[in-house]
Amino acid sequence: MKPISVYVHIPFCTVKCGYCDFNAYAGMDALKGDYTAAVVRELSGYAAVLRERRVVSVGFGGGTPGEMAPSQIAAIVDAVRSVAALDPGAEVSMEANPGTSTLEQLAGFRRAGVTRISFGVQSFDAAELAFLDRIHSPEAAAVSVPLARAAGFESVGIDLIYGLPGQEVAQWRRSLECAIALGPDHISAYALTVEEGTTLGRRVREGEIAAPDPDTAAGMYDLASDLLAAAGYRQYEVSNWARPGHESRHNQVYWTDGDYLGIGAGAHGYLDGERYENIAHPRAYVAAVASAPDISARPAVANRYRPSPAMAMADWFMLALRRMEGFAPAAFEAKFGVPVDAVLGRTLADCEAAGVIERDDHIRLSHRGRLLHGEVTARAMAELGAAG
Ligand code: SF4
Repeated sequence: MKPISVYVHIPFCTVKCGYCDFNAYAGMDALKGDYTAAVVRELSGYAAVLRERRVVSVGFGGGTPGEMAPSQIAAIVDAVRSVAALDPGAEVSMEANPGTSTLEQLAGFRRAGVTRISFGVQSFDAAELAFLDRIHSPEAAAVSVPLARAAGFESVGIDLIYGLPGQEVAQWRRSLECAIALGPDHISAYALTVEEGTTLGRRVREGEIAAPDPDTAAGMYDLASDLLAAAGYRQYEVSNWARPGHESRHNQVYWTDGDYLGIGAGAHGYLDGERYENIAHPRAYVAAVASAPDISARPAVANRYRPSPAMAMADWFMLALRRMEGFAPAAFEAKFGVPVDAVLGRTLADCEAAGVIERDDHIRLSHRGRLLHGEVTARAMAELGAAG
């Protein structure tokens, strides 16, 4: 049976952080029960698809899935199991914030079938956490990993953010060292991006705070690469490091062109070459799913489209280059029926000449190129005529 993954979006958060442009909302806790029921119903509408597939991973993202009750997470995992064959080693992952889940809740998530948890720690510095509007303390961040271990999780991750305005390299080093000292199995490190439509975006635009400095952020990325490698973490993706065997299986599905269902408000899915996006607002999503007479007609879907060949190639190239191993040119040709050099020759030649891309039997970003993933993919889109 062909593999598939299931992404479940949980849009609830205690506060909306000023830098966040995810589909996440504060003050909607009263909707959690109806939302869980809607997710379960939406999943039942995909029974015919899931029955023909092997589910290799279920990923809860958000928002803050860790702020759901374990019984709500259990109901959703059970709904997947009731219609699909979960692979024996299937990964069920969720994101949580430090300080919002007790040991009992974490143990409840584990009993619900969650196999892997990652905490949005972001920083171990109180001032940085305040700048990011995070509600947890460095102390709560420090107990998150041992708490998850005590709850029975064998795969525990930490997410960090670097490149904050005014952040010193020494502060970033301290956060990295604190993270490493906790011994998580997986560490993600993302550069802070200033997104339009966020409070941070407005503050930067109005000159209240300086935009993050890209050169400092580049130095921080190098520092992360060095410290994490020295501590035994292998970088397997532009922003992700893991101990052997703890790479995120769920995210690899995205990076390797695998099919996945997107369930929940604003979730994106990719099924048999078609991309789709659900209704974004949680209340509108719940109303559409709850009132639909025929759930198999996919009432949650707001927008669906089959990417043009150029767009599909650009997406594939962009995702494949996120992985450290890159891709074999033969894999591109097998997928699209055309050699990669015939459609992306100029981008590849220029990037190779600039030392941004390396080639042997695979094409991959060089160490320097990892910081330029966005620029490389923008060039590729332009060459393919897929920009915009
Ligand atoms: S907790 Fe995460 S998802 Fe929620 S608002 Fe903050 S950054 Fe966004």
